[in-house]
Amino acid sequence: MVKAWILQEANGVCELCNSDSLFLKDNGKPYLEVHHVHHLANGGSDTISNAVGVCPNCHRALHYSIKRDELVYALYALYALYDKIDRLVDECN
Ligand SMILES: [Zn+2]
Ligand SMILES: [Zn+2]
Repeated sequence: MVKAWILQEANGVCELCNSDSLFLKDNGKPYLEVHHVHHLANGGSDTISNAVGVCPNCHRALHYSIKRDELVYALYALYALYDKIDRLVDECN
């Protein structure tokens, strides 16, 4: 349910880099991946306040980039900017 809601909300646009999804899936819906900002493995919740819809590139970067901490801060900054902060809650503190 969380995944479906997030993908609906992202509406085919990566929530980190704002790029359109690279391709459509078999069902005609844009392909995006769901990322948990505070990783589930570290106790993050599987809720819409902890999840974003991102393109595969951004998703890999959020996990493996040497700058991943900066990317996470960028996400929070973006949400503050667009007044979506209501949705995304910082669980890292
Ligand atoms: Zn992206
Ligand atoms: Zn992820």
